[in-house]
Amino acid sequence: MQTGHGFYCIVITYNNNMDTSKNIQRDGSNLSPWQTGVSALPDNKISNVVGIYDCLIIGGGITGLTAALQLQQAGKQTILVEAKSIGFGTTGGTSAHINTFADTTYTEAESAFGEEGAQLFADAILEGFSMIKNNIDTYRIDCDYQTKPGYLYAEDDEQVKQLEDIYNGALKVKVAVAYSEGVPTPVAFKKALRFDGQAQFHPIAYLHGLTKAYVQSGGIISENIRIQEIKQEDGVHTAANIRARNVIYATHLPPNINLFNFECAAYRSYVLAVELTDDKYPEALIYDCQEPYHYVRTQVIDGQPLLLVGGEDHKTGHGDPEEAFATLEKYVRQCYNVSSVKYRWSSQYYIPVDGLPYIGQLPLAADGIYCATGYNGNGMMLGSIAGKILSDIVQGKESKYADLFSPARIKPVDGFMEFVKENTDVAYHFIADRFNFKDAETLNEVKPGMGKLIEVDGKKIAAYRDDYGTVHTLSPVCTHAGCIVSWNGEERSWDCPCHGARYDIDGNVLTGPATRNLAKL
Ligand SMILES: Cc1cc2nc3c(=O)[nH]c(=O)nc-3n(C[C@H](O)[C@H](O)[C@H](O)COP(=O)(O)OP(=O)(O)OC[C@H]3O[C@@H](n4cnc5c(N)ncnc54)[C@H](O)[C@@H]3O)c2cc1C
Repeated sequence: MQTGHGFYCIVITYNNNMDTSKNIQRDGSNLSPWQTGVSALPDNKISNVVGIYDCLIIGGGITGLTAALQLQQAGKQTILVEAKSIGFGTTGGTSAHINTFADTTYTEAESAFGEEGAQLFADAILEGFSMIKNNIDTYRIDCDYQTKPGYLYAEDDEQVKQLEDIYNGALKVKVAVAYSEGVPTPVAFKKALRFDGQAQFHPIAYLHGLTKAYVQSGGIISENIRIQEIKQEDGVHTAANIRARNVIYATHLPPNINLFNFECAAYRSYVLAVELTDDKYPEALIYDCQEPYHYVRTQVIDGQPLLLVGGEDHKTGHGDPEEAFATLEKYVRQCYNVSSVKYRWSSQYYIPVDGLPYIGQLPLAADGIYCATGYNGNGMMLGSIAGKILSDIVQGKESKYADLFSPARIKPVDGFMEFVKENTDVAYHFIADRFNFKDAETLNEVKPGMGKLIEVDGKKIAAYRDDYGTVHTLSPVCTHAGCIVSWNGEERSWDCPCHGARYDIDGNVLTGPATRNLAKL
């Protein structure tokens, strides 16, 4: 299909007839069921692009595509560039629960931002939720959208107290909630809440629906372009030879050094999709109140129901990913009758220091450069509303959420303590990890499948030996802020414990905020 501008043609096919018994690693990440069997958009070089775009959108996840479609539909000429492929980022690794409540509870939002702030936050969550449904209806997106009840349950007295806070907070902001006698879970619980009208979908099918609508309305997409820097001259921004009056970083975290390196902490969360022996798949979205919490739902893939269970989150580059999967699998097997694990994957999210996302003008950057980050585990709704808010700002329209989510807002005192804690942690890793290298006589000490930080002849090396015996040697110094990366044996990647940048075994950037690859040695 040809766009109005003649640059781009898309063919999206779903080929889920493949063997899903193993989700083979691609580029340092395990594939989610959403990412398997969906063909990528064709590699596209932007040629004969002239002139100045109204907006350059960087990042092809739910935030970027929502913003791009909104702007294009409003008559703005936009271009969206993506470092890898559409859905490569967390939108491809999400568990895609769509909720009317959030990880930052409405009670917490009220204590940090007042009653009005909590109400606006709830409005944003609900509006983001509705936007997804509206897009699905408007653009007839076939993405397995289903409405289901959501349950949140407490297993001890402390969690019961949390549940009561969540209940009261939700009622105050007029989000429908009720206590529930039953929960479709085999786990014993003390008290539970029921939120009716929650939803779930296939996130990549949804993204591809947005992509199609965007391209049909004249939008341009180019994959495999990682933006490293933006230059400004006379109110025009230039990145990778693309010129635009406005730029939106829809990169989940804006790249390079910026304020969010201090205000958002990068976490990994782990998900298993399992087949059950007894067919007791819950028709609900279910969450416990553990820290970190488990999230559960059912998804039919290729006609086969699978139980999705996620959790075991930890800061990127800190915990042990192999252990996280092992613990998660043990938990799932304890609670359910599992016949086999069909998929296992993990992905990254960002916790904002004061609990709310940052959406708006990028602090300390030239005017007209915008960003959205800090969604915690609620990026389906918050990414959607962020796309709308940023599209409104670019069009010069007022947004009622602009002040609440402004990246320039002053942090409440509660957040300040978190701020200090996170940044002390970064400082610790910056120094201490420099002493973590093991002396090695030769690279022979690195066995196949193993990644290790070693020092050979006084040289610090991040070394990985692949299954064929080839050793991949890299500088261990993260190109973002100079911390030392650590080995992630589960995903075969080098992960930075300071700000969450990740690299594949050849040093290529997988996840920002880094934009430059690790140096090869
Ligand atoms: C395991 C897990 C489960 C989750 N479950 C839920 C859930 O059930 N419900 C919910 O609401 N939220 C959930 N979340 C959160 C949600 O998935 C994310 O908040 C959301 O997908 C973020 O979308 P995004 O478009 O902002 O970022 P992404 O989807 O990460 O997209 C950003 C894109 O930008 C690209 N990019 C980055 N840097 C550059 C650059 N310099 N140049 C060009 N491109 C670049 C990346 O390659 C990427 O494709 C979950 C998160 C995790 C980790």
